[in-house]
Amino acid sequence: MRRREFIAFLTGALTDWPSNAFAKQRHLMTQIALTPEEFHAAYPKLQAWIQKTLATYEIDAQPIASMRFARLPLYFDHTSLEAARFIPIDRVPTPPLAAMGLDRFAAFEQGDFNGVTYLDRYFIKRPVVTEEALHFHELIHVAQWRLLGPESFLTAYANGLDEFGYENSPLEKMAYDAEASFRRSSVIFDADKFVAERLARPQ
Ligand SMILES: [Zn+2]
Repeated sequence: MRRREFIAFLTGALTDWPSNAFAKQRHLMTQIALTPEEFHAAYPKLQAWIQKTLATYEIDAQPIASMRFARLPLYFDHTSLEAARFIPIDRVPTPPLAAMGLDRFAAFEQGDFNGVTYLDRYFIKRPVVTEEALHFHELIHVAQWRLLGPESFLTAYANGLDEFGYENSPLEKMAYDAEASFRRSSVIFDADKFVAERLARPQ
């Protein structure tokens, strides 16, 4: 895996709707070196951080059904929606990358995001917690995490970046494409099946 791919994974796959300031930082960060050794050292720490963070906030995790969204149940199957939870929060948690040995990414920790998905949990900022399309987008990521598993999620994202570049990496493009269809209210589709079929496509 090349350095910029891991960086793009950290800045792209885990987070959404970066602020303008962060978008500039992201551009800068893609210019910075990350060796395979640094990646292999950081990845288990990232996984451990995700588990710890989710355990800490599990008490605040809300069932999707509690929002009484009318449209989400039309797109996701009942089991998927039942398993996922969201955590309303003032500031979404991001990994302490500097503490993981990635000092150069300290600026990332200052980033301010509307939403972030880790496995089948997503954090969402309180001011946008009523926006159904943002829940939809994060639920697409939940489906990706579930269908791929964390390591394959990372590998698929990196491979996609290698061929298509950050902006069009398949996992993120998939989420935005699905969200756009949802926002257009055009045709109702099976979102889990949509993700599974897109993942099955040759990359
Ligand atoms: Zn996304």
